[in-house]
Formats: sequence, structure tokens, C-alpha cells
Amino acid sequence: MTIVKGKTMEKWISEFPDLGPVINYTPFYWSNPYVKDNKTAFQGQPLQLKDIQDAEERLKRFAPFIVKAYPETEKTRGIIESPLKKGNQIKERMETITGQRIPGALYIKLDSHLPISGSIKARGGIYEVLKYAETLLLEHNLLSEKDDYSKIAEDKYREFFSQYTILVGSTGNLGLSIGVISAKLGFRVVVHMSADAKKWKKDLLRERGVQVVEHPSDYSKAVEEGRKEAENDPQSYFIDDENSEDLFLGYTVAAIRLKKQLEEQEIQVSLEKPLHVYLPCGVGGGPGGVAFGLKAIFGDAVKCYFAEPTHSPCMLIGMMTRMHNEISVSDFGLDNRTAADGLAVGRPSGFVGKVMEPLIEGIYTVSDEQMFRLIAEMADEEGVHLEPSAVTGLMGPSYVVQNYPKVTEEDTHLIWATGGSMVPDEIKKAEYQKGLEYKIIPDAK
Ligand SMILES: *Cc1c(COP(=O)(O)O)cnc(C)c1O
Repeated sequence: MTIVKGKTMEKWISEFPDLGPVINYTPFYWSNPYVKDNKTAFQGQPLQLKDIQDAEERLKRFAPFIVKAYPETEKTRGIIESPLKKGNQIKERMETITGQRIPGALYIKLDSHLPISGSIKARGGIYEVLKYAETLLLEHNLLSEKDDYSKIAEDKYREFFSQYTILVGSTGNLGLSIGVISAKLGFRVVVHMSADAKKWKKDLLRERGVQVVEHPSDYSKAVEEGRKEAENDPQSYFIDDENSEDLFLGYTVAAIRLKKQLEEQEIQVSLEKPLHVYLPCGVGGGPGGVAFGLKAIFGDAVKCYFAEPTHSPCMLIGMMTRMHNEISVSDFGLDNRTAADGLAVGRPSGFVGKVMEPLIEGIYTVSDEQMFRLIAEMADEEGVHLEPSAVTGLMGPSYVVQNYPKVTEEDTHLIWATGGSMVPDEIKKAEYQKGLEYKIIPDAK
């Protein structure tokens, strides 16, 4: 008999009947019974709106450096931001595929096209490296907050940073973001990659002078190795995807940027016209940070949902059982094997899970077959290539319409498309071809 954390499987399932489909790899929507009204949910939180604003100010200070180091950010004056695109065609397709009418407009937030590293990780990862760089320079009297930060691109700063090592454990994209920006600043960088990490991500990092350590095991182990290596060296800085508040804050800033984009496109958000946001979730920092920022700014007018692979529903299991990081998908016999490398995480962040427990409406799971099909649909309907992790948001609206009958034409659905523009062409083509093979998407139940 299998005993998980002191309870039999029968006991787990009788306590949490929703575990049934989840541990059978069945795509499933879980409505979060622990969600609270916004005011209550923000009481006693470790982070507040002022922390988000502080992070935004820091990114503004760095903007002159970013423009200089990455001329492709000239248009946005050194602010790393992605477009907000209306998705009429894909909305219609999703209605056909799921057989579910979706009242309201559908938009896509193209973090797949964020400058520098082409995924949502360009928010958190780059922010934490910049904050560390700023802290070091301030400590050594090499910078004042009033300076023009473009000077950080000069060689003498690169030399200064070369004494320090940045370490991170990653399934791919976080390593890519942190590796690329750290190498640009002049830091030594070591990225511990899990077995899920795609070869092209490792190759690209090595090309940029980043040391890549490959692990035959999963993400949690890669993180542990990075953490261990940093412990013994005061000149090393470990970016902790499972626990870092700075990483989380880097993601939250997206909300300030999105508010401006919604205003520019005259999309109203209010209690009567709610915004539903669908976020792919791995360890939780990216979607958690974005959702936290949105809740801090829009309050009860925004509703956030996480999407996870059926093979790696770590946040769902952690939050449902309220065991958070004390439980992993393998405890329930799930294999954590998915083509969605960015979401191939077996154990969620305890920090993020606890912060988000009162703030998100629900979590749903998506099969790999559905992901590939959706890659092909997005490419055909909207001309955008997304990676497997990044299409999972698309399954959200039909679940939400089924579970919350109050959705009207005044609502707005926002699919957070978290990565894909940097995928090499031949891999894009192969993913698309594979998508064409999956003709039928199992019904969203
Ligand atoms: C990392 C990643 C996510 C999820 O972010 P977490 O912080 O791991 O939850 C989603 N999509 C893509 C493409 C990613 O790389």
C-alpha cells in the first residue's frame, strides 16, 4: 500500500476528491476554495504595492544601460516589454475546438517576444541580476542612484563584475535569461540545467561564454546543486528560483506595464468588466509574480488562473493539499515528463504557493497533445510561434466560462504567452508538424 506523507492514497482521495483525475493525468480544472477578496488577501503579505513600484524604479534607472547593451530595446527606451495583441482568430478556433462559446474579447500578451531572452524569464531573471549588480556597485562606491547607468556598459565595470560568480538552477529559460544578461555585464556565470533543458538553450549559453553544468535529474536537483556550489564562496551569488523575492518582484512589474497597454488600447477593467488572466506555471515565480502585481493594481477586477502540464501539476497538488513545497508530483506517482520544459517542475515554490493561495481563482492542467495542437493552431491563426509551455493559457477561457457562468461580453481574457521567439527555426517547424498530427483535443471537463 502506498503511503504518502503518512496517509494512504484512499485517504488522500477521500479528503481531496479532485486529486483523482489529477493523479490519472486527466486534464482538469480546479476551482480554488481558498481564494479571498483582495483586501483580505493582501493583509499580512510579505510584499506590497510599494515593493513593486520600487522594482519598476530600479528598472527605469537601468534603462539607459539596457539601451546601450541591447540596441533592439531602443524603441522602448531600454524598457524590456512585450506587445499586447488581440487574438480574434485563435478565439474563434478555441470555441470550435472546445465546443464552448467564449463571451468577451481575447488578447495575447506576447512575452514570447520579450527582448533579450524571448521568454517571461526576461522579467524576473534580468531584474535580479541587475539588482545584484547595482547593490555591488553601490557598496563599492562605484555608482550612485542618480548616475546615468549607461556607464555600466564600460569595460572597467565588466572587469569589476568578473570577480563575481552568478549561479542558477534551471529547466532552460531562467538559465538563458540570467546567463545572457550576466555575461553581458561581465559576471562569471554557472547555469545548472535539468535533464529537461533543450539542447539549443545550452548551446546558446555556451556560445556566450556561460558555463553550463548538465544534470541527468530534474529541476529541483539542478537548483539544489547551484545552491550548494554558491554556499562555499562569498564572491558567489545564487539566484534561487524557489525562494527569491527579488526574482518574484521582477515579474510583478509586468502589471504596471500592462495597465498602460490596456489604457492605450482602451480596454476597460472593472468589477463589472473583469480581466481574466491565464498564466503557465512551473515553480510559480513567473506566473505568481505577474498575478501578484495584477492583483495589487486591479484588485478584485482581475482574476488569475494558472496552467500546468498534466504530468507536472506541482502547484495544483501543493495548493489543493496546502502542503505546498512539502509535497511533489512524484509522491503521487506522476512522472514529471513533459515537452513543456519551462513547466517541468515536480515541486512548487513554497514561498509563491503560500503568497498566491488567497489570490488565484483556479488552476487547470493541459496535456502535451493539447499543447502541440495549440502550437499549430496559434501559428495558423495568429502567425505566432510559441513553445509548448507558452500555449497552455489558451485552454483557460473555456474552463472559466464553464465554471463561472457570469462571464459576459464585457469580460476580457488575456492569454499570457510566455516564450517561443528564440526557438530555432527547424525546431519550430518540427513542433508545428507534430501539432498537425493531433487532430482531436480531449474535451475540457
Ligand atoms: C519558466 C516558464 C514558465 C513558468 O514560470 P515559473 O516561474 O517556473 O512558474 C512559463 N512559461 C515559460 C516559457 C517558462 O520558461
